[in-house]
Amino acid sequence: MNNYVEQVINAVRQKHQNEPEFVQTVEEVLSSISTVVDNHPEYEKYDLLSRLVEPERQFIFRVVWEDDKGNYHTNTGYRFQFNGAIGPYKGGLRFQKNVYSGIIKFLGFEQIFKNALTGLPIGGGKGGSDFDPTGKSDAEIMRFCQSYMQALYRYIGPDVDVPAGDMGVGGREIGYLYGEYRRLKGAFENGVLTGKGFSYGGSLIRPEATGYGAIYYLLNVLKDDGQDIKGKTIAASGFGNVTWGLCKKAKELGAKVITLSGPDGYIYDPDGVSTDEKVEYLLEMRSSGRNCVKDYADKFGVEFFPGEKPWGRKADIVMPSAMQNDVHMEQAKQIAANKVRYYIEVANMPTTNDALNYLLEQKDMIVAPAKAVNAGGVAVSALEMSQNSERLVWTEEEVDQKLQHIMNTIYKNSKDAAARNGLGYNLVAGANIAGFERIADAMIAQGVF
Ligand code: GLU
Repeated sequence: MNNYVEQVINAVRQKHQNEPEFVQTVEEVLSSISTVVDNHPEYEKYDLLSRLVEPERQFIFRVVWEDDKGNYHTNTGYRFQFNGAIGPYKGGLRFQKNVYSGIIKFLGFEQIFKNALTGLPIGGGKGGSDFDPTGKSDAEIMRFCQSYMQALYRYIGPDVDVPAGDMGVGGREIGYLYGEYRRLKGAFENGVLTGKGFSYGGSLIRPEATGYGAIYYLLNVLKDDGQDIKGKTIAASGFGNVTWGLCKKAKELGAKVITLSGPDGYIYDPDGVSTDEKVEYLLEMRSSGRNCVKDYADKFGVEFFPGEKPWGRKADIVMPSAMQNDVHMEQAKQIAANKVRYYIEVANMPTTNDALNYLLEQKDMIVAPAKAVNAGGVAVSALEMSQNSERLVWTEEEVDQKLQHIMNTIYKNSKDAAARNGLGYNLVAGANIAGFERIADAMIAQGVF
């Protein structure tokens, strides 16, 4: 490995011992751009990589809210503005009880490259809170969001930093966050957030975009492999917004999503989540706030496996779409033993690094990385920003067409970047390289700071 790359990785290991998720993503990204750094001595001269792994700015703040019984609670809020070289910071907010700086930092770092890959003018950022939305009433969610925005509104804006949803943050939360922002600013600056409701500036197709984009990316992989999606089985995890979009598009194209998972276990539906009723039910499960996938098994009479993950199931395509580190070495071995041909990451960093490297070594397996596959969500967020700044609304067809074009370009650029660097058909390294090249170019052009 390139010496300078190794040096920076080691420094990150030292400095971020208590943030293992961040160390993991830095190791993954930097090791795959090593050959590019070999060819660019100026990166070391300007210490580009040390700058890249340090957020430009980070906010950590107190969020106090009142529950329905009149008790007060205090949570920690985060917003990390990681890299603004190619556009306003852009990335979601995650509300989940396990959120701490290491999670926001890993997501923010991933976001830099993902956003660069889209080809659109969006920098990398991420935020969230250790607030646990499970079982909270609507009024509690609203009060939490208002308090969160009171702390953050000074530091974001349509040309500064544009948050959006992530786990625990959907259309409802974005609505409350935007309402508070508008109230505090006294202006209709709706480009400050994306994932908004359609009535006040949201983009059509944004709710579906991450899942649809993942399937559009998959279509590229299948096409290059001489395969059709029709009739293929997909083992997915999660049941939230991303998995919902995935199921909806898979159904439309005649593929079957046969597993879903939640914190309580997984369900196996051999017929697939393949009717409108089933797909719609995922939305109901999410809005119930119960966070239980067993509800699906109860409703449709399929098998539920408490406390288990779906990775032992045979399927043509595996798509981990729930959360980070969902697939460890042991599960990777199971997936390989099942002779799965397509391992398509969807959630951010769903695979541990050792498991990912193991899967990449499997000769008959094609592996695609999350930062390319799930980029459709943030890409349509950028389209939402465009519509807001131009004060116009694009039709569903217009947005969908642009999304397809973006996903095809991401696939092609990743594939070409790997080939150009002598790495063969390596979509993981290719995505890192293509994203990195754009960022590095912009950073070098803008001078050292
Ligand atoms: N949280 C999503 C992501 O990781 C969406 C971000 C956005 O739309 O800004 O890309």
